[in-house]
Amino acid sequence: MAFHDEVEIEDFEYDEESETYYWPCPCGDRFQITKEELESGEDTARCPSCSLVVRVIYDKEAFMEKTSNLKQKTSPATEKLT
Ligand SMILES: [Zn+2]
Repeated sequence: MAFHDEVEIEDFEYDEESETYYWPCPCGDRFQITKEELESGEDTARCPSCSLVVRVIYDKEAFMEKTSNLKQKTSPATEKLT
């Protein structure tokens, strides 16, 4: 897959309501990748209006650690068992 560009996550615009990161696409729309996708290790932000994609540069381990700390109240491991 050929990336149109590589963009650091810090440069993306974050929308808290949709939990989605945005980056302007040359076609006028915006590349987008959700926080959930980043947590699962996804690093490709797609534009819904054209076929371009950008690679998101971020520290996966640091990102996952940070987000998992926020979710400490509920343990995914025990949820799966019940
Ligand atoms: Zn586009």
